[in-house]
Amino acid sequence: MSGRLVIAGLGPGSERLITPEVSDALATATDVLGYIPYVTRVADRPGLTKHLSDNREELDRARHALELTATGRQVVIVSSGDPGVFAMAAAVFEAVEAGPAPWRALSIEVLPGITAMLAAAARAGAPLGHDFCAINLSDNLKPWELIEQRLRLAAEADFAMAFYNPRSKSRPEQFARALDVLKTSCADARPVVFARAVSTPEEVIRTVPLPDATPEMADMRTVVIVGSSRTRVIARDGAPFVYTPSSVPV
Ligand code: SAH
Repeated sequence: MSGRLVIAGLGPGSERLITPEVSDALATATDVLGYIPYVTRVADRPGLTKHLSDNREELDRARHALELTATGRQVVIVSSGDPGVFAMAAAVFEAVEAGPAPWRALSIEVLPGITAMLAAAARAGAPLGHDFCAINLSDNLKPWELIEQRLRLAAEADFAMAFYNPRSKSRPEQFARALDVLKTSCADARPVVFARAVSTPEEVIRTVPLPDATPEMADMRTVVIVGSSRTRVIARDGAPFVYTPSSVPV
């Protein structure tokens, strides 16, 4: 049997948000690779080998998956959310491009998943209903100055913004700095949605005006959505609806 590599997104957490095609790929896999908590989400069964690795080992993991595929295995690499959003798909293609020529002939397929910002936006209402951008706030793979520049330019362009990896123990100061840049660039009280562990039992959704947003409101399990200048909050009993109108008047 010839090998196959599937790069699959497991969605934000709930089993019900895993697509049927990803479930099918997992059901026929011989090997599943990924960051420890993601591989743990895949049920054990006879004939399935799980390869768990640390978060910082993306390129090694990608190469390992390609080597297994080249020997004829049915391999699935899992990411949370969507594999193309700050996750494994790009690492695999980086490994293919730099790797031995026969890897280019392998069967490689990317199966999408529901990414965190879309699951979070759905909970809040429709904050991404008009033009928006997504920014990874981790500076593990790029300089912090570039992140600040993108924040300023996104604010100037009046995009709504979704922030992944807002905060970690190893870089506690940076999200505070990001909020300062936004507060300086945006002189209004646009809503900020802190969506933590969306679709899991630990889910918490909290919406505050930008001037009241503080770094402690986010952690590594939080995706943060900052509205544009046109984003609206519909107050009501319980959580408000947050939405960005789909049109901008001429
Ligand atoms: N590929 C993933 C993103 C990986 S980066 C995706 O498409 O969603 C990891 C970051 O994603 C976390 O730091 C957090 O910002 C966000 N994230 C992942 N799952 C989440 C969830 N269930 N709720 C809120 N944020 C989540």
